[in-house]
Amino acid sequence: MKKIIFEREKCIGCGTCTVICPSFWEMKEDGRAGLKEGVEKGGVVEREIEDTGCNEEAAQSCPLQCIRIEEA
Ligand code: SF4
Repeated sequence: MKKIIFEREKCIGCGTCTVICPSFWEMKEDGRAGLKEGVEKGGVVEREIEDTGCNEEAAQSCPLQCIRIEEA
């Protein structure tokens, strides 16, 4: 298992992750990205996944590097 960790407060709302990986990422009304089915935990948003899929590319493309993928 892997875990996506999203430091949402760093997000500038550029929208790149939502274009690259729309099955996981969407724009929210406050202008920042949202991780679908993510759970807020200690100031970050997390979601466990089997396969990283398009999240790998989303993480690499985020200009603020606020998306991380770790071993869960
Ligand atoms: S790519 Fe990064 S900065 Fe841009 S919307 Fe997604 S999380 Fe936010």
